[in-house]
Amino acid sequence: MQPARAYIGIGSNLGDPIYQVRQAFSRLGDMLSSCCVARSALYRSAPVGGPPDQPDYINAVAALDTGLTPGQLLAVLQAFELAQGRCRTVRWGPRTLDLDLLLYDQLVTDEPRLTLPHPRLHERAFVLYPLYDIAPDLIIPGQGSLRELRANCPQHGLIRLDSDD
Ligand code: ATP
Ligand code: CA
Ligand code: CA
Repeated sequence: MQPARAYIGIGSNLGDPIYQVRQAFSRLGDMLSSCCVARSALYRSAPVGGPPDQPDYINAVAALDTGLTPGQLLAVLQAFELAQGRCRTVRWGPRTLDLDLLLYDQLVTDEPRLTLPHPRLHERAFVLYPLYDIAPDLIIPGQGSLRELRANCPQHGLIRLDSDD
């Protein structure tokens, strides 16, 4: 069977976020039945929503070719979050690691446990900019071209980090 191309949004704002994101890249690179085919640069962004006075986020995006189903992939991502010490407390609150399944091929689903494309990806600079780094020609089902979505999304203080930051 042909593998699916999945895109994963990575975020952290606790416990040395740059380290946490690099750990996540490393776990995604070691996954069974999957191959990490691209990684974006790291970006720094101010938190959106959730409680006030949270630390800044480090964000990135990875592309995987995977033989896992979307449900299996989400379960693996949630296990990685737990392995890196994530506690689910306040919605949009600080966390050591957040892994969102942004896209799984062009699949569209509308279930609370797994909505695809990720329902807020098209309005988030910290997703659109790193995603564009690794897949500039992507079409987001129901939203249009990534190129246009990014062009219409202000950066809101998003900063691309140099690889040695
Ligand atoms: P946001 O979804 O706005 O980025 P969040 O990442 O902080 O917020 P979480 O607390 O990590 O939200 O996840 C809440 C629920 O979202 C999870 O229980 C998960 O089952 C569900 N979910 C639905 N669609 C997706 C998706 N595409 N990727 C990851 N989780 C999803
Ligand atoms: Ca998220
Ligand atoms: Ca999440």
